[in-house]
Amino acid sequence: MDEECLGSEELPVFSDIRRYYCEYCGICRSKKTLITSHINLHHKELEDAKDEKNDDADGVKSNNTCDECGATFKKHAYLLQHMQSHLLEGK
Ligand SMILES: [Zn+2]
Ligand SMILES: [Zn+2]
Repeated sequence: MDEECLGSEELPVFSDIRRYYCEYCGICRSKKTLITSHINLHHKELEDAKDEKNDDADGVKSNNTCDECGATFKKHAYLLQHMQSHLLEGK
């Protein structure tokens, strides 16, 4: 009898389990980190393409690129700041 009580008390736990879905192929994982690593493994090209689209949406061309390390910045001022750090490194 006590076991039945425990059983019904445990039920709400099930609804507490989070499910995360891959937005590209729809697979289901219990942790978001698992989905993130799955996307990096299987859909990295698509994820990269999405990033480029986001840049276009902001009306920013990727011409603010660091010649030293290839890093890109949304604003030219950020690139200048970044270049300063390269100069300070003495590279
Ligand atoms: Zn997937
Ligand atoms: Zn750089």
